[in-house]
Amino acid sequence: MKEQENLLTDSFGRKHTYLRISLTELCNLRCTYCMPADGVKLSPRDHIMSYEEILTMARLFVKHGVTKIRLTGGEPLVRKDVYKLMDDLASLQVELSISTNGIKVDEFIDVFKRCNIRSINVSLDTLKAEKFKTITRRDLFKKVYDNIELLIDEGFKVKVNAVLMKDFNEDEIIDFVEFTKEKPIAMRFIEFMPFDGNQWDMSKLVSYKEIMTCVNASYNNNEVLRLQDAPNDTSKNYRIKGYQGSFAIISTVTNPFCDSCNRLRLTANGQLKNCLFSATENDLLTGLREGKDIEPLIKMAVASKQKIRGGMDSLQKLKDPELHSQNRSMISIGG
Ligand code: SAM
Repeated sequence: MKEQENLLTDSFGRKHTYLRISLTELCNLRCTYCMPADGVKLSPRDHIMSYEEILTMARLFVKHGVTKIRLTGGEPLVRKDVYKLMDDLASLQVELSISTNGIKVDEFIDVFKRCNIRSINVSLDTLKAEKFKTITRRDLFKKVYDNIELLIDEGFKVKVNAVLMKDFNEDEIIDFVEFTKEKPIAMRFIEFMPFDGNQWDMSKLVSYKEIMTCVNASYNNNEVLRLQDAPNDTSKNYRIKGYQGSFAIISTVTNPFCDSCNRLRLTANGQLKNCLFSATENDLLTGLREGKDIEPLIKMAVASKQKIRGGMDSLQKLKDPELHSQNRSMISIGG
């Protein structure tokens, strides 16, 4: 058992118990900040992990101590065999969860329940239908909004993720906080992160500090309650007194939470990424297809994890376009 635990422990003693698996690079939205304007270069189809390969990888990570798996993408619910995959992954000794843009959620309520998926993250960057259309290049706001309500009605734990950007949706911070008044959701504001081709620059980022300044200016001091964060939580959690839901900030850029990071990512084409910011990927799929033992590869990938943000340990480095262009876009990594 000792050796198994070691495989997923890095040189800073961080134990990795949480694996995010991207099921596809495809998505039914075209979010401007996630996907480069000229589209993403998709991996050839036969480079994408098959159903069996995903299960084999998942079993291996669970054997070595992973206790939580989140399915992501692209949009995980557009993958054709996702029903079967969820059923089989649910039979592992693991907490299964999913990140989705919400569009197809209504088709999956029974599957989620059957697979004991209780916590669903839905991305929604605006509460305005027109703005939704601008950012996603699709007219589907109502569908997503209705599906969030459906999830709540069906008793799921719903987290709503919004990436905040200057001159785009920072004016909606309080609307989003008010969204938690009558709804038992966890609203999470994500700082805009740099990836290849997403036109990131620091001036577009709405920081943790700016978000809290805005919140504190709109509510009385004693109404903004700081909540206890869960262990390994990436977010700083708050509630407005008397509101049903909570809100949180994921300050990956200005206040990273690398010390307690327990995450690894497996991309749809079978590359292990030890950090969202890391430009380095370790190819597990080729080894698996060649019938090799991929455990040494996993060990190497985990051992080489950098202390902070994949080596982007200063704002200076983060601002360097040369450096963030070395990292694939979020849609192809799997957020
Ligand atoms: N399609 C699913 C969804 O919408 O949640 C899963 C994949 S999506 C890439 C996962 C998350 O990454 C979304 O919440 C999205 O907003 C976030 N994301 C994408 N690009 C980002 C960026 N540049 N900075 C911060 N978050 C980003």
